[in-house]
Order: sequence, then C-alpha cells, then structure tokens
Amino acid sequence: MNPFVYKNGVLHAEDVAIPDIAAAVGTPFYCYSTAGLVQRYTAFADAFPHNRATICYAVKANGNLAVIRTLANLGAGADVVSEGEMRRALAAGVPPDRIVFSGVGKSRDELAFALTQGIAQINVESEPELEALSEISAALNRTAAIGLRVNPDVDAETHEKISTGKAENKFGIDISHARAVFARARDLPGIDPVSVAVHIGSQITDLHPLRTAFGHVATLVDALRADGHSIDRLDLGGGLGIRYDDETPPTPAAYAMMIDETLGRLDCHLMFEPGRVMVGEAGILVTSVLYDKAGLARRFVIVDAAMNDLLRPSMYDAYHGVAPVRETLGDAVLSDADIVGPVCETGDTFARHRAMPMVDPGDLLAILSAGAYGAVMASTYNARLLVPEVLVKDDAFAVVRARPTYDDLLNMDQFADWQDLGQNSTVS
Ligand SMILES: *Cc1c(COP(=O)(O)O)cnc(C)c1O
Repeated sequence: MNPFVYKNGVLHAEDVAIPDIAAAVGTPFYCYSTAGLVQRYTAFADAFPHNRATICYAVKANGNLAVIRTLANLGAGADVVSEGEMRRALAAGVPPDRIVFSGVGKSRDELAFALTQGIAQINVESEPELEALSEISAALNRTAAIGLRVNPDVDAETHEKISTGKAENKFGIDISHARAVFARARDLPGIDPVSVAVHIGSQITDLHPLRTAFGHVATLVDALRADGHSIDRLDLGGGLGIRYDDETPPTPAAYAMMIDETLGRLDCHLMFEPGRVMVGEAGILVTSVLYDKAGLARRFVIVDAAMNDLLRPSMYDAYHGVAPVRETLGDAVLSDADIVGPVCETGDTFARHRAMPMVDPGDLLAILSAGAYGAVMASTYNARLLVPEVLVKDDAFAVVRARPTYDDLLNMDQFADWQDLGQNSTVS
C-alpha cells in the first residue's frame, strides 16, 4: 500500500492534499504518513511470532519523536546509537527494557547513562569498550546485558559508505576472535554476555549476503554454546532495503523464511533493528519550483529544497523519484531535466535526466521515499533553516517539528566578550 497517491489529479498523503499542507507550513517540508508507518511495521512484525521477536526500530533513520511514538505504540522498541537517540526514544515512550544501544564509539558518559536507565542490551563492538563498560557497570553496581557485535567479513553488496560487515570496516569484533572475547566477558565484573549481534550494512536488496552472515553467526553460536555460554538471544541488525527506483527488496516473509533456515534450529529470541524499511517509503520531501532554467546543455528545474535538507543524492549518489504534486496528464509534453537545489555546489542535485512536464514557479514537487535518512541528516549549511516535519493520519495533519526562525538560527552563535561592534560598522 502506498500512502501517497493522486486523488482528483492532486497528490495526497492519505486523505490530505499536499497543497493544503504546503499552504499551512510553507515549503520545503517533510511529510510522513501514519498509515505508511503502521503498514511497514506490521508487515515486518507479522513475519515473526510476536513472542519470539523484538523489533527495535533504528532511531537514526528518522528520530522525530512523533514517528518514534507511532512505532512504539505498535510495540516497537528502539535501537539507538547515542545518548541523544536514547533520550529521544525514552521521551517518545519506548520502555527502557526494549532499547538496544549500538555503535562503535560509545563514550563512558553514554554507557553510564544507558546503565542507569536500565536498557535491555548494550551491543559491544570492541575489547577496549568491553573493559570500559565492565569498569563503569561494576562501579555503578549494575550488570550490563551485552550483545557482542561480530564482524562476519561479508560484503553486503550495497553502497560502500553504508557497508559495515567487511573486515576492513570499523564495526564489530572479528568473528574469528569472538570466542576469546566472550570468554573474557564472562570473567569480567558487571557484564552478562547474552547475545550475538550482527549488522552488515544498509539498503540491502538481496538476501544472499545476509544469509551468509547469519550462517557464520549460527556456527559461532554452536561454538559458544559448546564453550558453556548460554546464548538465547540474537540481534540480527537492520539493513533491509526499500524501493527507490526499480529495486525488488526481499519481503519480510522471505526474510523470515531465510532466518528460519539459517538460525531457526538455535531456538533463540530474535531482535531486529530495522530503520530504513520502517520509515523510508512512509515519507516524502515536498518542495516548490523556483525557476525552470534552460541551460545551454541541460534543463534545470531549480527547487527550494537543497542537499542540506536531503543529503542522500549528494552523499550516496542515491536515486529518489520526483513526482509533480499536480498529476501529469497523459498528453503532457515531457522533457529531460535535472532537479537541483539552490546550494552553491554541483553536488546539490536531487535527480538527473528526468522526464519532467513544464513547471511554473510555485509548483510543488514531491521527492519520494525520503522518510529515512532525510530529516535526520539535515543541516543548516548555507544558513538555511531546517525544514519542518509534518505527520498525517487519515484526514488530519500535524506539524511535528516546526520550522525554526532566523532568530533561532542566529542565536545559536554568540560573540566573544572582546568583540565590540567595530568603529566602521554600519550595522544599525
Ligand atoms: C544503521 C543501523 C541500523 C539500521 O539500518 P537500516 O538499514 O536503516 O535498517 C541497525 N543497526 C545498526 C547497528 C545500525 O548501525
């Protein structure tokens, strides 16, 4: 089910016309669909027996409190990679005992915060981190339930910047070394090793690398059990891809079947950390056309959103569909165009060589599948304001993050106390 469809020639989010939101909040803005979130979450959750799986939504894909709460109300836990994300998850209503803390460089303060909140699991990614956690945990008189994140040295066959499971990537403990680290963990005070965790990358559109990785995990669990560890939980990470262009990502059912084949016999409680697949297709970025510029070699449709609002095209060469909010009629004349933002970098290009109808200034375009790694990666580069976020449910919409003001932006800076206004200043 796609929550973004044309009705009477106008793009809607559920039952709300996109131009109505634009009139209320201005452009650009992110728009998320509650039905889209619910549908993705339930499709994933229903692929597994509910009492045998915990779905910890990876907050880094979209950390808006209203998005997290929508998923938490369906039963989702949270996978977090910083104290800030942990605070977001807690503020959104995720119970601490459904929170997993991942990440290659958690600080001592962050580990202490996690322990005092009593979260479900901390995924340890290195031996020095294990030693540090043991010290902190023992000092606080706590016991940290840990997963050991292993690096299975498997190529996820995705963009190199979001591939995390090769031996040369910074993530996890080499799987060949995991038994030794488990043995060490068992001897350390304040540590209870309960789980093996693995996450090999993001936007994975073929089950094959995941199957290979999970096979290695199964072999490891056999060895760990033979060593006397009771491993009854597995954290299988996130990474399932979505459709941006013409990909055919695996269905949750196919994913579940593969997991049953590779890991089912171990009879473990499963934890998942899906991010992109929960939110990606449930969000769009709506932007206005500023100018339709006929260059010598190209047509450029210049819009009011830019790379600072949605970094994926410039950062990962990512493809996003672009749809006019006013439906293009069958007899419309289309011509090849690049859709670009106003930022002073050639990388500020959302799409190249798209067949676009004639557009006028003020026309709205929707950049599709922008719900994941969109707003969370935004910056104020070029002193542009962060864009607002809107959540739709049925025929209602709510601003779930307002557009800041220029005062908000400027007030983040301050002058050094020796900086008076200069003699020649003309500022009045
Ligand atoms: C990024 C990340 C995820 C989520 O990845 P998706 O591809 O968005 O599902 C899950 N677990 C860990 C450890 C991550 O770093």
